[in-house]
Amino acid sequence: MNILLIGGGGREHALAWKIAQSPQLTRLYAAPGNPGIAEHAEIVALDAADNVAVVAWCRAHGIDLVVVGPEAPLVGGHVDDLADAGIAAFGPGREAARLEGSKGYAKDLAAEAGVPTAAYRRFHDAGSASAYVRDAGAPIVVKADGLAAGKGVTVAATVVEAVAAIDACFAGAFGAAGAEVVVEECLMGDEASFFAFADGRDVVALATAQDHKRVGDRDTGPNTGGMGAYSPAAVMAPDLIARTMAEIVEPTIAAMARRGAPYRGVLYAGLMITQEGPKLIEYNVRFGDPEAQVLMMRLDDDLVPLMTATVEGRLAAVQPRWNADAALTVVMASRGYPGAYTKGAPISGIDAAEAVDGVKVFHAGTARADDGGLVSAGGRVLNVTARAATIGEAQARAYAAVDRIAFADGFCRRDIGWRATGDTSNG
Ligand code: AMP
Repeated sequence: MNILLIGGGGREHALAWKIAQSPQLTRLYAAPGNPGIAEHAEIVALDAADNVAVVAWCRAHGIDLVVVGPEAPLVGGHVDDLADAGIAAFGPGREAARLEGSKGYAKDLAAEAGVPTAAYRRFHDAGSASAYVRDAGAPIVVKADGLAAGKGVTVAATVVEAVAAIDACFAGAFGAAGAEVVVEECLMGDEASFFAFADGRDVVALATAQDHKRVGDRDTGPNTGGMGAYSPAAVMAPDLIARTMAEIVEPTIAAMARRGAPYRGVLYAGLMITQEGPKLIEYNVRFGDPEAQVLMMRLDDDLVPLMTATVEGRLAAVQPRWNADAALTVVMASRGYPGAYTKGAPISGIDAAEAVDGVKVFHAGTARADDGGLVSAGGRVLNVTARAATIGEAQARAYAAVDRIAFADGFCRRDIGWRATGDTSNG
């Protein structure tokens, strides 16, 4: 099979690394890719946002499957345009991708399907949203409706903070994504990420993970795209997995089919494990980044036939096998992230890091300098990922590997996995 992978972050490096191990693979291409992905795929100069160009390129190169990593091309209808041209693509179509593209859409769908989630209201103007918040009180959560790169959510401790977030949304802080605002009840509990493949009708559970959104140790500082993750999520006992499938994921897939927008692809449910059980925080329509990195380290099966079964509606006969080992990834980021940061800092020591047992270093924001050396090229730069029998051992291996990498302008959290290990100070 010839496969084109769309994307260029750590998630896509993990997917490329896994796809490259498939005996079914003939050639793997990637756009835009990164230097890590380039070890497994031929990088192609293709504007991944240009659906017409992608379709034409796939036709010219005999592509059998397109794997779309990030959410923007999915929400932008890549999969529909490829399907119209007779090219199979992994991921939901434009309408089904609204589960992530519009938080209001996802909340309405959850209500229609009877999925447990935070109580909510949708607003199109600041005045009525603020009046509602003053009435409801704090803590309360304010969300820009559309895609805002993970920055459109404010968990407000006070009414003043919530009103400021509402004003910022309607003043254009998130562009068109903030033209509608969802205000919702603040849920309390432990968070977990749950992943499943759906083929429009049948659903298979994948695995669980927990990510670390805040930039600082002990979950302090601003939210980021994710500073690390581990799998499995300690909080997701087998009964909670069964409840998540029965109460959240399966009713959602059934409701999407009833709406005439069958969901095919990976469905990522962000969950709050409350005292009443799992509740949906939000849906994402692609793998998490950095959760994909730990999932790919634990998946024993070939990813390619799993993806084709998803695309072709054959999941009823599939049960993916997961390694009993745990996996943990530490994100090395550019100093200043998630605020302003510099690029072009030299990085070395990746080979030495990968010499640590069970370690794989995935590239996120890296580039090759003119002399061929590796330099930073983004906020999140490397995902130092380890597998081991326990989360504690995976954590020790990942940090041993981090300490072999020279990246003067870089930093990482030192406590990834603390909820599972109870240890908040890993050297
Ligand atoms: P998101 O960008 O939608 O993943 O949201 C970012 C973070 O905001 C989530 O990971 C949660 O920590 C938090 N969050 C979102 N919605 C709620 C809610 N209803 N109650 C409590 N926390 C929430």
